[in-house]
Amino acid sequence: MKGILIILDGAADLANERLDNKTPLEAAKTPNLDFLASRSELGYMYSVRPGFIPESDEAIVSIFGNDLISSTRGQLEARGLGFKPMRGDLVLRANFATIDSLESGNIMDRRAGRTLSTSEAEILEKAINKQVKLPCNFIFKISVGHRASLIFKGGFSDNISGNDTSIYSQGRTVSSDKISRCKPLDDEENSQYSANVVNEFLEKAYNVLKNHPINLERIRKGLLPANFILVRGPGIEPPKLKFYRKWVSAAYMPLEIGFSKVSGMKTYNFNYPELKNIDVYANLYEGLRKACKFSNWILKKNLKKADFLYIHIKETDIPGHDNKPFEKIQMIEFIDKMLFSYINKIVFPNHIKVLITCDHSTPCKNKAHSADPVPVLFYKGDYSEIKEKRFNEKDSKKGELGRIETGKELFQKTNFLK
Ligand code: ZN
Ligand code: ZN
Repeated sequence: MKGILIILDGAADLANERLDNKTPLEAAKTPNLDFLASRSELGYMYSVRPGFIPESDEAIVSIFGNDLISSTRGQLEARGLGFKPMRGDLVLRANFATIDSLESGNIMDRRAGRTLSTSEAEILEKAINKQVKLPCNFIFKISVGHRASLIFKGGFSDNISGNDTSIYSQGRTVSSDKISRCKPLDDEENSQYSANVVNEFLEKAYNVLKNHPINLERIRKGLLPANFILVRGPGIEPPKLKFYRKWVSAAYMPLEIGFSKVSGMKTYNFNYPELKNIDVYANLYEGLRKACKFSNWILKKNLKKADFLYIHIKETDIPGHDNKPFEKIQMIEFIDKMLFSYINKIVFPNHIKVLITCDHSTPCKNKAHSADPVPVLFYKGDYSEIKEKRFNEKDSKKGELGRIETGKELFQKTNFLK
């Protein structure tokens, strides 16, 4: 193996008062990552471009040297779930969410409190597929947690908006806590028709969900009902991405699995642990443990077989959205112990390059992604000097690699692929 790329989703942050004005990466104790950092070059990167607030898909598409395309999210996630949509099928990323009512359209929670168990989601999925009747065929498929994929079969237009106006699209944040209707973004009849079909689905799904026994039970328990579907990332064409041969990918979320497959990597994945009760963080640590072990296993298995390994750790993004800086620290420390200890054991004797970064910053205090740059660590497979420095926002600004204007420059700037 020549190199390992590790993306810690949303691990970058901003100085936090609750951490004595440190960031979680600064506050975390990471002896293994520090060992690697002190033998590496550091830099900082705008994963898409300065001023742009990236979604995960936009960041990874860019880091792997591709131009941004509007239709990635839905298409990649559906492919990650094993679907092979036909050209013209309209594919969207979907989320269970909570609204007060369809009439007033106030969003109470974009992820139904993140507490929707796998078995609840399965029952709601079945109810939607069975009871919603449309003029076309469709598939609504749940993935992990509140996430799902939505596919409308036929010849559609994807030049339509999603229904969550606050989701930043193409790097802009439009904040609103109200749902909107999907709208055509051009004058084509098919775009109007496509938006109408999606809106019809959303309204009918709401009617199935709002009084569903699962949701009545959730309300009785004091939990948020999963009574609405938010959609984004519409796409009708398979995304065209650069091909990465001799790469293996340890991905376990639908987006990263789909991205790796479409990019031509040999993709390993595992089934994410089911959320069995409302302890979301217990489930995340279970997932993280599995992800680290799984990544180590793939590294070992492919050490002599593959040239490059892509590891994407998703969990670190979530405490940022939830404003939980201490959970973020704990996750970073956990990854240090479970993943980086093993990475160090392998890369030094085998002279393997290591590139570590984040897809975007998810500052706890913003509870959302931000346009701030992310730290980059590059170990070139060898070292001549040891200098005390750490993989964090502050040290990265003083690093030898300097400022990287866009994710598209990351591989060239570091000579990672050479
Ligand atoms: Zn992300
Ligand atoms: Zn996020």
